[in-house]
Amino acid sequence: PRRLALVLGDQLWAGNPALDGLDPTRDAVLMIEARGEASGVWSHKARIAVFLSAMRHFRDELRARGWTVHYLALGETVERWAASASASASAGEPESAPRADALPGFAARLADALAHLRPAALTCCEPGEWRMLALVQDVCARAGIALDLRDDTHFLCSRADFARWTEGRREWRMELFYREQRRRLGILMDGDAPAGGRWNFDTENRKGWGRHGPGLIPPPARFEPDAVTREVIALVEREFADHPGSLAGFGWAVTRADALIALAEFIDARLEQFGPWQDAMWTGTPFGWHSLLSVALNLRLLDPREVIAAAETAWRERGLPLASVEGFIRQIAGWREFIRGVYWQLMPGLADANHYRHDRPLPHWYWTGETRMACMRAAIGQTLEHGYAHHIQRLMVTGQFALTAGIRPREVSDWYLAVYVDAVEWVEVPNVIGMALHADGGRFTSKPYVASGAYIKRMSNYCDGCAYAPERRHGDGACPVTTFYWAFVDRHEAALRRNPRTQPMTLGLARLGDDERAAFRAHAAALGNRLDEL
Ligand code: FAD
Ligand code: SF4
Repeated sequence: PRRLALVLGDQLWAGNPALDGLDPTRDAVLMIEARGEASGVWSHKARIAVFLSAMRHFRDELRARGWTVHYLALGETVERWAASASASASAGEPESAPRADALPGFAARLADALAHLRPAALTCCEPGEWRMLALVQDVCARAGIALDLRDDTHFLCSRADFARWTEGRREWRMELFYREQRRRLGILMDGDAPAGGRWNFDTENRKGWGRHGPGLIPPPARFEPDAVTREVIALVEREFADHPGSLAGFGWAVTRADALIALAEFIDARLEQFGPWQDAMWTGTPFGWHSLLSVALNLRLLDPREVIAAAETAWRERGLPLASVEGFIRQIAGWREFIRGVYWQLMPGLADANHYRHDRPLPHWYWTGETRMACMRAAIGQTLEHGYAHHIQRLMVTGQFALTAGIRPREVSDWYLAVYVDAVEWVEVPNVIGMALHADGGRFTSKPYVASGAYIKRMSNYCDGCAYAPERRHGDGACPVTTFYWAFVDRHEAALRRNPRTQPMTLGLARLGDDERAAFRAHAAALGNRLDEL
């Protein structure tokens, strides 16, 4: 081909700038399946299946629109391509296909493909991950092929605009960034003022379900696997048999058409109640009123603009509550964009940050859910089953336990990257290292997010079925979340007192007295030595 557009596994949208100006009659597309892409991550079976199935569906869509797509499926090598002459034929797994783990990584497969296809130039939308960016640049340089990297137009805020926003700011705060995004893009604005007169409805959006529980919640859209997905599921069961997670009940959207249905169903059935209950947790209620749209957004099957517009329209035209609509839009126009900007500002150093020098290994039950702590059992159990947990489960259950128990940040981050279907490094690393573990020392957050078992009790029913008692700081049946919380506040008392947002924690500590402090300190030390047994 004259020019070749490289489409990566999380860049599956028709507006991909790699295709801009290319001519389907003379140019072509290259897509490559590789075990673990650039980073070689260990991951949930459903995560692998989502990526492979969405890529194969997108390949078929491009072909239907007249593109020649050179598609290197997991079971294929470039030598096989050459042998079978037509690379655009079936991408199924031949009987004698080499095992996926025997294949070289993404870089070698890209190099092989370029050597075989010899394009005059390679176009590519800038990868979402810094390592992939470096890899693509390196492979092209070695192959002597001109690389035409194009800005990623999926996001509302470009990398350059985010970098400019950080200039001269000592503290990067999501809230300020979000307000600027709203003003600049005219999202939920009435003239110069925020719709409803307020930027933030957080105070209305933090309810627990009380004693009565969540009641009936319309389930999220589920999509019956088609032939392409069934083939991928069989492949994953065969090639990735030892990976965590389950494929039973796999129903994620893997095409744009499915993703649009998932979006419409969320707006119609769950957005209304999303706001008040977005932090609430309940056993047997893995999805709550959440959207489950992160996977489709991260694969680019959905555009953030259309998701935001659909939510705003539901408020303006159908009278859905502003607190819910604003709460949802804040996640996409605020958090998601902010996190992506932070990733590019702070990587690669962010991935290895360890502000508190935490050095304990990740308890093995993070991989099984087999712990007597009911909150961890529920959050990890649904994670392994569905590849999903909502924000507060990730932040305040599995995340804050890892922080206060002093687990090595890198191990925690690798776990998050492995177990969530929506995990991609640009969003996982800042959320885990910065938000959940405060391991960067608070470059873009206002405080470490820690709380005792009392918070879990207020926001969920987990404590009702637990072997531990949330109010107990030490002794028999003491709640490990509570013990580790107080030990954390005790260890970092001076720093927490200096921050107005965490000062109240230290006032609580001061009221406890020396004997109590000595008792929970000793209990925390003992628990820390037998984390695997909790
Ligand atoms: P909803 O609650 O319905 O929110 C709507 C959308 O807002 C999400 O789909 C997502 O695109 C966006 N969003 C919400 N919060 C965030 C956030 N903090 N950062 C970025 N986008 C956000 N999200 C991922 O997509 N991939 C990850 O690997 C990931 N890892 C996380 C790790 C930790 C420790 C934490 C605290 C959060 C992480 N998040 C991650 C963010 C968030 O938890 C998920 O996006 C969300 O739970 C996905 O479920 P949902 O689509 O039902 O979200
Ligand atoms: Fe979790 Fe503690 Fe409640 Fe048990 S008592 S569910 S460990 S917070």
